[in-house]
Amino acid sequence: MANYNRRDFAKLVVLGGIGYTVFACADDPKKDASTATKEEEKVTPKIPELLPENIKLYQKADAEYQDLADRFNKRFQQSPTYIAQCFTTQGVADAVEFANYKDLKVVVKSGGHSFEGFSSTNDGLVVDVSAMKKMEWRPDHSLSVETGCILKEIYNEMLPKQRILPSGSCATVGIAGLTLGGGYGFFSRKYGLTCDSLQAITIVDGQGNIRHESGNSAILKACKGGGNGNFGIVTKMKFRTYQAPSFFQAYRCKAYKLDTARAKNLLETWFRYTRSLPNTAFSAFVLNGKTLTILITNYSNDNKGVMDMYNALKEVSDKATIGSKRPLPKALKTFYGVQHPIYFKNACAGLYKDFAEIEGCIDDVISKVISSRGLIYQVNTLGGNINSAASEKRSVYPHRSYPYLSELQSYWDKPSQEVSRLVAFKEVQDRFYKQGIRAHYRNYPDINFKDYETAYYGKYLPELKAIKKQLDPDNRIQHPQSISL
Ligand SMILES: Cc1cc2nc3c(=O)[nH]c(=O)nc-3n(C[C@H](O)[C@H](O)[C@H](O)COP(=O)(O)OP(=O)(O)OC[C@H]3O[C@@H](n4cnc5c(N)ncnc54)[C@H](O)[C@@H]3O)c2cc1C
Repeated sequence: MANYNRRDFAKLVVLGGIGYTVFACADDPKKDASTATKEEEKVTPKIPELLPENIKLYQKADAEYQDLADRFNKRFQQSPTYIAQCFTTQGVADAVEFANYKDLKVVVKSGGHSFEGFSSTNDGLVVDVSAMKKMEWRPDHSLSVETGCILKEIYNEMLPKQRILPSGSCATVGIAGLTLGGGYGFFSRKYGLTCDSLQAITIVDGQGNIRHESGNSAILKACKGGGNGNFGIVTKMKFRTYQAPSFFQAYRCKAYKLDTARAKNLLETWFRYTRSLPNTAFSAFVLNGKTLTILITNYSNDNKGVMDMYNALKEVSDKATIGSKRPLPKALKTFYGVQHPIYFKNACAGLYKDFAEIEGCIDDVISKVISSRGLIYQVNTLGGNINSAASEKRSVYPHRSYPYLSELQSYWDKPSQEVSRLVAFKEVQDRFYKQGIRAHYRNYPDINFKDYETAYYGKYLPELKAIKKQLDPDNRIQHPQSISL
């Protein structure tokens, strides 16, 4: 356990009303009141004045607490003992020092979109960086962002400058959580995962040290696919950006009242044609009960593979439409999704190499999905330049050779609907497990995944454990599926 630094203790004492309550000596088993008073007197007055700009600490009785405790997934109603709202990297370091002093576990929160509530806790300290939103351009078109930024803020900054970062589509997802687990979206088959564009980071480790990592740093590498709440709190990220395309076009095919045989035939056709898509295209197969939507997007005039796929699917669908070529800012907004908290359960349903991998279980899966209220099975295209040897060397994302990423989803309105939704969900997951599907995307976690460390990190697990040991030997930073020592 790291020793508490006296100067920092005194710095933290002057945080204000709540700060004083939190750090009062009577609350501290290791010190008595007279010792602490002497320590406070030793501190130069200038340092405490800086602190409210760095960090504010909240407990349950505070008016601000509940807003900060809420997450995008209403299924989780967690109550951390403390929430440290941080405004600077120094504030994050102070929060970790406080946690070390109080012997609290630290949980990290940026955009708050974790599927499984991994950015909150019931018994520790949440380090919340969501108020840290500065962005700064460099002459080489790279963009440095603080990790409180959410995707729509980054798009709003980049798109008017005709720049783009390969990233996710949903407006309120945090850039931090997304990048640290990999990050994919419409532009990834051409430009790689979001983490592949990450050039430098500032990170506060589990002992409160501030580190700047770039180039061939092993810590930077570990944060490209393995950095979600495992060994440090990333406060700044510098990204390479790309010239934005001049248009974006969406194609949709829909089929209704599906039975298992027809849905399976459509899925097989989808897999077949995705193999010839250009790298500027993306596609998703979304089976929502008995209704299927196939989305194909593209942003280049290399359109042959897209048209071949669209025409083949049109023949076997009930409705097919080609959207107009739209300017990127407008087109992306149509995919921003729900921007307020909802009840849901989402999880990875496996990364696949091809249809053959799931053929043995797909009849059971489809028949469960079409007979279960509110269950959605989706398969997305990865592949293209995600599968690059150069990116493989510089990251710990282990699934580059899998061109398909699937997910299960369920959304509901009232807590009473949760149990039945989760039962059907688990049945489909079990079917995939029996089929031998083991590789899972870290950003689509599930608390029930067996052997989750290998499923998320594969061959890079030993490297990540070594980084954990180096940066967080006391296992200060953790969540239910964080890397174990
Ligand atoms: C509606 C929705 C749409 C999505 N769309 C996509 C998509 O298009 N593409 C895609 O790749 N993923 C997508 N995801 C998954 C998304 O990438 C993950 O949920 C991601 O982890 C969310 O990051 P966050 O910062 O919003 O969440 P948080 O809940 O704040 O954090 C998620 C995890 O990252 C850790 N973490 C957060 N900030 C930091 C930090 N600064 N330093 C260290 N660890 C940190 C947390 O401890 C937690 O374990 C989507 C999720 C949702 C809910």
